[in-house]
Amino acid sequence: MEPPDDSGLFFSGGEDSWPFTELVPAVPRGHNPKIPAAAGGFLMQCLLKAVERTTAQVITDATAQRLVVRDGEVVGVEATIDGERKLVAARGGVVLAAGGFMFNHPMLEHYCPTALKANVPLGTDHDDGRAIRMAQGCGAALVGMDEMEVATPITPPRAIVRGSS
Ligand SMILES: Cc1cc2nc3c(=O)[nH]c(=O)nc-3n(C[C@H](O)[C@H](O)[C@H](O)COP(=O)(O)OP(=O)(O)OC[C@H]3O[C@@H](n4cnc5c(N)ncnc54)[C@H](O)[C@@H]3O)c2cc1C
Repeated sequence: MEPPDDSGLFFSGGEDSWPFTELVPAVPRGHNPKIPAAAGGFLMQCLLKAVERTTAQVITDATAQRLVVRDGEVVGVEATIDGERKLVAARGGVVLAAGGFMFNHPMLEHYCPTALKANVPLGTDHDDGRAIRMAQGCGAALVGMDEMEVATPITPPRAIVRGSS
C-alpha cells in the first residue's frame, strides 16, 4: 500500500513483516512521490504536462475501430471521433495500448476461461479486446492470453496484521 502520509520511502514489499523482520532489519525500499495518499493523480499530471511540451495532438472521446493497411503496412487508424468516422494517417506506425479483454465474454471463454470464475471482474468497459483483435486482423500473433492476475483484496487495519508459526 502507498503510505498515507507524504513519505518518499516506504515498505513496499512486505519487508517489514514477520518472518523477514527476524532475518534482516527492515529498510523501506519503495520510492513514492512526496504526495499524501495515492500518487496516481500526481503521476498523470506529470505525464500530461510532458505531453503538453511536445507537438503531439491529443484527441479524447475517440474510439479506434480498425487499422488501415496498405501494401501490408499499417498506415493509419479508423476511429469514431465525436460520433463521426474519421481516418487518421500514421507516419511512423501505430501503438496499440487499449487495455485487455476482461469484458469480452467470448474472448474470455476462448483464451482464459478461468477468468470467468472471478466474482468481481475489474477493469473498464473498454477492456473489450478490440485492440487485440485489430492487431490480429493484421496477422499479429498473440502470447500470454491465458494469463491473469487474481487478487484477494482484503486490507485489514495494520494493527491486526500478524504472522504466526
Ligand atoms: C483495481 C486495480 C488496481 C490496480 N492496482 C495497480 C497497482 O497498484 N500498481 C500497478 O502497477 N498496477 C495496478 N493495476 C494494473 C494497472 O492499472 C494496469 O496494468 C494498467 O492500467 C494497464 O495499462 P494500459 O495502458 O495497458 O491499459 P489501460 O490503463 O486499461 O488503458 C487503456 C485505455 O485505452 C482505452 N481504450 C480501450 N479501447 C479503446 C479504443 N478502441 N479506442 C480508444 N481507446 C480505447 C481505454 O478506455 C483506456 O483508457 C491495477 C488494476 C486494477 C483494475
